[in-house]
Amino acid sequence: MSRADLWSKVRAVLFDLDETLIDSFQGRIGAHAEVCRILKGFLSENGFVIDEGSLLYELSSLDDEMNKRFMYDRDNWWPILVEKFAPKLVLPNNLIKMLTRSYWLAYAKEAKPYHDTEEVLLYLKKRGYLLGLVSDSDRLPGMKRYRIEIQPFKHLFNLTLVAGEDTEETKPSPEPFLVAAERLGVKPGECVYVGDKPFADVEGARKAGMKTILVYRRDWGFDAKPDLVLRSLSELKDIL
Ligand SMILES: [Mg+2]
Repeated sequence: MSRADLWSKVRAVLFDLDETLIDSFQGRIGAHAEVCRILKGFLSENGFVIDEGSLLYELSSLDDEMNKRFMYDRDNWWPILVEKFAPKLVLPNNLIKMLTRSYWLAYAKEAKPYHDTEEVLLYLKKRGYLLGLVSDSDRLPGMKRYRIEIQPFKHLFNLTLVAGEDTEETKPSPEPFLVAAERLGVKPGECVYVGDKPFADVEGARKAGMKTILVYRRDWGFDAKPDLVLRSLSELKDIL
């Protein structure tokens, strides 16, 4: 099959959100800073004087690790982080909840669209493609929906779906992808899914029978063989 044939049947372009359409790396930096600020205070009240750099370093490693293991519920992260510095210190439940909420609010505030996001979505819309957004739950009910609603490009989508809240399963299950195609009224084979995570986005969409495009934002150490790898969203204009 030639390159042109591969894309000629596409009627709908579906996207992931974080690190695909919005620069979540900035969100992550803001969220980590906020959590570390609060935790440093809590640790110091309990007699543990920890330097913020070490806290930030440990949180950053933990974030990568938990993402690779699909463990997105931040409530489970904070006790693991605290244990590294104060093994016997118990984190109160209300503080856990507060940390998770503060994390996501700081994240939402700092994670802005990439410079080419709106322009590319508008281009695809003008070309007649249906646009969909399929994003996993943040595991804090309603938070991902809120983070979608505040995006300036939200109105361009024909469908937005939060996997794990609007559907039973999250990526890489094919379920959210199949539900999205059905709601858009297209066959999975007429969809291309664009995402940044090889193990969640490429694996899941391929299992659902969609074409897959990986936007390379960083190396996840996982080889998933998408149909195409792009370095930026604007390169979509060369094929669609
Ligand atoms: Mg992503």
